[in-house]
Amino acid sequence: MVVVMASGATDAQVDAVIARVRLTGGEAFVSRGVSRTIIGLVGDVEEFRALNLRRMAGVSEVIRVSTPYKLVSRDHYPGRSTVVVGGRDGRPEVRIGPGYFTLVAGPCAVESLDQTLESAELAKAAGATLLRGGMFRPWSSPRAFRGLGKSGLHILAEAGVATGLPVVTEVSDANDVEPVAEYADMLQVGARNMQNFAMLDAVAQAAKPVLLKRGIQATIEEWLMAAEYIAQRGNLDIVLCERGIRTFEPSTPATLDISAVPTVQRLSHLPVIVDPTHASGRRDLVLPLARAVIAVGADGVLIDVHPDPDSALCDGPQALAGSEVRELASAIRRMAPLVDRDPVDVTANMVPEPR
Ligand code: PEP
Ligand code: MN
Repeated sequence: MVVVMASGATDAQVDAVIARVRLTGGEAFVSRGVSRTIIGLVGDVEEFRALNLRRMAGVSEVIRVSTPYKLVSRDHYPGRSTVVVGGRDGRPEVRIGPGYFTLVAGPCAVESLDQTLESAELAKAAGATLLRGGMFRPWSSPRAFRGLGKSGLHILAEAGVATGLPVVTEVSDANDVEPVAEYADMLQVGARNMQNFAMLDAVAQAAKPVLLKRGIQATIEEWLMAAEYIAQRGNLDIVLCERGIRTFEPSTPATLDISAVPTVQRLSHLPVIVDPTHASGRRDLVLPLARAVIAVGADGVLIDVHPDPDSALCDGPQALAGSEVRELASAIRRMAPLVDRDPVDVTANMVPEPR
């Protein structure tokens, strides 16, 4: 069961609901979103019914949810959520959600200041509004470039300030969440860590929006349950990212599950973006797949870019360089309006400054 508080409900009203729920021996988890506070109830549904929570001050709705994921389900919030990222150091707030098509781009790995700055400029020129860049690289081979670790964080932050873009980076250990959250505007949970539950708890508590990638072998329900872990700890600012799943087809490292987008949109109110880069592992497939991503109605696309992919320390074969990034940006500009979305554009995605 989920209690949706009215906009403007006070903390005292929220506390009163929690206290009443606890009288039954149940537990209540509060999530404060941009526009509303919701309280997820775990316990005996019949006992909750008897509490008449709907009549309490500040309560807007009490909803019975039949799916195992509750807070992230559309039963609890029938609309579609918008997640706001950034807004620090004079940089814009970026909205990811219905009506927008957001380009998240940047180097797979932060290698050096120059390479990160050049990648960031490339991403921005193409209209990216969120800069990505990895510090903790999770590869199958221990001999692959594993990233600069914490020492690279200030480089990404510097590139974000230089280009005026908020930044997202992957965190792969619960102990790194705090230092990473100091630099990043959004925390990425990579495919390999989608069910690292200790880390999901830590990420949820960092008070930053989360980009949650789908695990390589995860069902949609498992993916949404991972999101529920984060939501249950009080953070509803979650963007889901489909990045391909393992199938029997060997021509690409993963098979992009394009049908996951409308499926998830029916089940969950969270925004969904798609990463064709890591699904395909091949530069020549990124643009055609990105076109499919726009057409299917996703909220954005995430890609690796590099000023010189041949010299990239990791994922060079799938990184887009200058002209390819521009081609992708032009496809977004042409196609996004056809599916009723603002094409990617730094200004279009900006939230106006408060007057
Ligand atoms: C990434 O985005 O850098 C990445 C490694 O992706 P994934 O976790 O989806 O493999
Ligand atoms: Mn990569």
